Amino acid sequence: MDALLQVDPLGMDPVEMRRLGHVVVDRVVDHLIALRDLPPVGRATRSDLEALLGGPAPEHPSSPDTAIAQLAEVALVAQQHGSHPRYLARVPGPAAFAGILGDWLATGHNAIASSWGGSAGPSSVELIALAWVREALGLPDTFEGVIASGGSMASLLAIAAARHAVGDGMVYLTSQAHSCIPRALRNLGYADGQIRHVPIDGELRLDVAALATAIATDRIAGLEPTIVVATAGSTNTGTVDPLPAIAAVTEREGLWLHVDGAYGAPGALTVTGRIALKGLELADSLAVDPHKWLFQPYDAGILYVRRAGALERAFTLDAEYLTDVTSAGDPDLRDRTLELTRRARAIKLWLTIRTHGIAGLRAAIDAGITLAEHAERSIVARHALELVTPARLGVVTFAVRGADRAQHSAIGRAIEDLGIAALTSTELVGRPVLRLCTINPRTNAADIDAVLDAITELA
Ligand SMILES: *Cc1c(COP(=O)(O)O)cnc(C)c1O
Repeated sequence: MDALLQVDPLGMDPVEMRRLGHVVVDRVVDHLIALRDLPPVGRATRSDLEALLGGPAPEHPSSPDTAIAQLAEVALVAQQHGSHPRYLARVPGPAAFAGILGDWLATGHNAIASSWGGSAGPSSVELIALAWVREALGLPDTFEGVIASGGSMASLLAIAAARHAVGDGMVYLTSQAHSCIPRALRNLGYADGQIRHVPIDGELRLDVAALATAIATDRIAGLEPTIVVATAGSTNTGTVDPLPAIAAVTEREGLWLHVDGAYGAPGALTVTGRIALKGLELADSLAVDPHKWLFQPYDAGILYVRRAGALERAFTLDAEYLTDVTSAGDPDLRDRTLELTRRARAIKLWLTIRTHGIAGLRAAIDAGITLAEHAERSIVARHALELVTPARLGVVTFAVRGADRAQHSAIGRAIEDLGIAALTSTELVGRPVLRLCTINPRTNAADIDAVLDAITELA
């Protein structure tokens, strides 16, 4: 009898749930308020972290207040703060609070978006959010998609779906493609000999004439050209490959065009970005990361395909134990990806779009584009610095005159060690550069100037 009336060993009294919930909300809001005064990258050694957070697996219960405090004060400060206004490295992740709220709400409801039968609500939120973003990007309504964990997974799924549609064969990309693309190809079983590196032009864009030649040469050699990967906003420089000209080639040759817009595609919400991203709508598949320039907390990476059903044809999961949650007509999102149990990543995106509107997102993206242009002017005005690539979709790169690769990385490291900012030191076709990515709408011109002042001083 007692066993039947057993209390949930993991249960919590509702009053306590509310109290702890408020503790967490207060922690997060306090963090966001204090963020500007913290170093953009929090560091700690593994041994210190293990001493404070580790030890033997706790056999007995302890206070969640203490544990929450340890997470907030020890673990969660020791990381790169993608939302920090002077986190200008790699790609910032300036999460909007509406997105944070959406993720909390979804987690609290243990939201799932796998099948229509088992998750009609979250599934329709995903389909609606995908349609809203599609419309905002100016894509035709035949584009359909799914939300994966990020750009790497979206591109991996895209290449798998492409291979299903056009068969195994040669893949074409440039040196400016994100490193997740060769990794995806390798792990999908492509051999090195199936990957063709197409030359780039002086502006680091895919050379279309060279692409056409490579395809023709491969055909003569008896190889089967299948997929071209183009980048719409490269991580290095914000460069967009000439999409209309590439699409003319892939269309004529019957190839699949995958466009990696993980970073740059949201630029198409703005007037200047729409011009730079002309031809996005010609992609057979397109990756777009909401956890970058659509201001979502990690993680979320959209994959769109132009032809309806292209994902289902590659990924439909056939299992007799799933037939009771399979529906006729309504999409089962598990069939558009490699995940079965999937968190409902669209809830946060839907809430953000409803809260701020596309206009709010557009203004925030525009601010990032304008800020990179300000950075460009500020770099050009300093004799110690030299502009290497102009402001493109929120990215600008520059060099310190007379400094070599090691000195560039030393300056980058010093800026970070001093807690001034985080920026990337990288290499562009053999040339060392520093790079700023200015997509955080909380970053302002004074932040940029302070960083450039500090670099000039160190130089
Ligand atoms: C960030 C990025 C990726 C990888 O996306 P993740 O979300 O980090 O997996 C791919 N391509 C480009 C152009 C990117 O900027």
